[in-house]
Amino acid sequence: MQSRDGVPQAVHDFVSFDGGVRARGYLQQPDRYRFWRGVIDETPRISRGAGLSYAGASFLADGLSVSHRWFDRVLDFDTGRSVVEVETGITLYALHRFLSARGLYLPVQPGHGRISVGGCIAADVHGKNQTRDGTFINQVEEVTLVHPAHGTLQLSPQRDGELFRLTCGGYGLTGHIVRARLRACAAPIPWVEIRAAPFSSAEQGFNCLREAARNADFSYTWHDMSTAGAGFGEGFLIQGTFVSQDRAPATTPGLSEAPVLSADGRARLPVSLLNRLSTRMLNFFYRWQQRFARNGEVVALADALFPTHKAQAYFQFFGAAGFREYQAILPHAAATNYVDAIHGYLREKPLPITLSSAKFFAGSRDLLRYTGDGISLALNMPAGADADMFMAFLDQRMIELGGIPNIIKDSRLPRAVVDVCYPEADRFREALRAFDSKRLFRSDLSERLKL
Ligand SMILES: Cc1cc2nc3c(=O)[nH]c(=O)nc-3n(C[C@H](O)[C@H](O)[C@H](O)COP(=O)(O)OP(=O)(O)OC[C@H]3O[C@@H](n4cnc5c(N)ncnc54)[C@H](O)[C@@H]3O)c2cc1C
Repeated sequence: MQSRDGVPQAVHDFVSFDGGVRARGYLQQPDRYRFWRGVIDETPRISRGAGLSYAGASFLADGLSVSHRWFDRVLDFDTGRSVVEVETGITLYALHRFLSARGLYLPVQPGHGRISVGGCIAADVHGKNQTRDGTFINQVEEVTLVHPAHGTLQLSPQRDGELFRLTCGGYGLTGHIVRARLRACAAPIPWVEIRAAPFSSAEQGFNCLREAARNADFSYTWHDMSTAGAGFGEGFLIQGTFVSQDRAPATTPGLSEAPVLSADGRARLPVSLLNRLSTRMLNFFYRWQQRFARNGEVVALADALFPTHKAQAYFQFFGAAGFREYQAILPHAAATNYVDAIHGYLREKPLPITLSSAKFFAGSRDLLRYTGDGISLALNMPAGADADMFMAFLDQRMIELGGIPNIIKDSRLPRAVVDVCYPEADRFREALRAFDSKRLFRSDLSERLKL
């Protein structure tokens, strides 16, 4: 099918990374810059980065997804200020290679290098020290936004700050972000020491996180919730710090390609390999692996930033049916209560929790971005009716305890939950309509949440 702007649109079967949403729509993959400069027709549309969001954020049934995949260049680099300008289809790993050759890195990065810069801006993602570094918006100096009705706009905190904030964390709904200027930080050394310290309860783990967020460059916890019996919630505090020169290997770490990851590839196995027994084995294996890190293990900075590169088979184990992630920030005073509720539920209705991991969060809530003060806890489980029931239970508990859910990580999150948890959801809707009265940018996520 040919579109008015001259770039073909192919019928495409989309699937969210968690496997929860499947939809047939159209995919357009422009590769010439003039596409953004020309007259873009007013077909409802949505930008697509790497397509790795757990939610259906970059496609819509019968809708048009415009891929930024071929716009992946570094355009400019200001050595004095360590500011790099990129096309937003660039992957985090390609950008990391560019920056690390100059002794720099981006502190806020999600766990896989195939994710695109555009996806990180649009979902305002977090990294491994949210307390110190905030979310992705903190390292964005400027974005170039293209919208069929408004043309090309330069946005920054100083220049049209409202629209800048609506765009960074706007789930692609304000337009195509075609370029971004990002502020990098000095990486003192390309090596990081990872230490794993055991703790015996979730509460203890959360307490350790507070200290670690202050002192370490990266910190998160891993909890064993694979069984509701003895040992529920115990685990490891994982801390990463740039190593001192005397402990660093004499070489520079090699940077090969990031392993390919896609929602289709993830779903290749016809059946899930993860049940209660195999999940216990998986957790046992993880504990065994941590023995290397108990006394400190030096790894390349890229391995610390993108730990899932070495563990992505994990996502494939869920098979075609997929998995669910429930990630929520709970106020500090409520985090242990929340875990107790999870424990109580699992005692009654066992479910294989394949991953449980927490991060310390700080910041004020704003629009629909995933931030705030508290403990961010992520839980994974195989998809299915039991998982959906559990997630509905978590929605309820989280609301009662004053938490907020992560919109980009949950392909089923109901509008009602978002409206209760995000007091600024209506302000987001109003601002979006004020900017784009025809609401041209739409996705499965925006339709579900009536954005
Ligand atoms: C293995 C793995 C680990 C992860 N770890 C983390 C983590 O640690 N922290 C975290 O916060 N998240 C994490 N995520 C989630 C991930 O960072 C986000 O879902 C991110 O948005 C995915 O980016 P993408 O390039 O795949 O974008 P897509 O999934 O294609 O799109 C995501 C959203 O961004 C919009 N978008 C993409 N490109 C553009 C553009 N150029 N202009 C306008 N809008 C655009 C889309 O419309 C959509 O709304 C992880 C995901 C995976 C698969």
